[in-house]
Amino acid sequence: MTTTHYRTCPLCEATCGLAITTRGREVVEIRGDKDDVFSRGYICPKAYAMKDLDADPDRLRTPMVREGDRWRAASWDEPELRFLHLRPMGSSEGGIWRGRVRHGSGQHFMGTGPLYMAASALFRATRPPYVVGGLGMAWGWLKSALRGAPRYEDREFRAFLRRYQRACLLRGKRRATAELDTVQEAIWRERAHSSHRSAPARTRT
Ligand code: SF4
Repeated sequence: MTTTHYRTCPLCEATCGLAITTRGREVVEIRGDKDDVFSRGYICPKAYAMKDLDADPDRLRTPMVREGDRWRAASWDEPELRFLHLRPMGSSEGGIWRGRVRHGSGQHFMGTGPLYMAASALFRATRPPYVVGGLGMAWGWLKSALRGAPRYEDREFRAFLRRYQRACLLRGKRRATAELDTVQEAIWRERAHSSHRSAPARTRT
């Protein structure tokens, strides 16, 4: 028997909606959630790849604690568990600059506007990796814009994203997101109700 879980992709700021089908512990399929107010069914290959990542026999399945030269597995509620982020965000492939440029290009693809991108890059420049992170993001966006790189074809989604970004610039991200959550709440509640009313619709065999 399979079950579909609706989640938000944690991999980048686009926060796309995911519909994850599982059979027991196994992830059977990951699709875009068509009802997600942000992404409307769009997901990128990174989200699809989470299925393989989850099934990878070599992936870490528990937090690892480094003690001197050796690593040991630790349980989630280990009282002395310590996390040390050695790799800055966005530096997974080819280093920080490449990762940040890729992020900027991705933002251009999704439809992020120039003002929001500039504000976002300025903000990021004040966080590690200082300056270079923000510069890389701005350059990635600008390079894509100058090249006339294709954008996500859903104009409605791009207009929606710009409205949200304008609200972030005018009222702050926290407030804009809270307002959006209020709108989304009705959709989430309706989903939860219909899920209870018609469980077989969300649980397929
Ligand atoms: S663009 Fe890709 S990685 Fe980013 S939130 Fe959407 S699916 Fe996840």
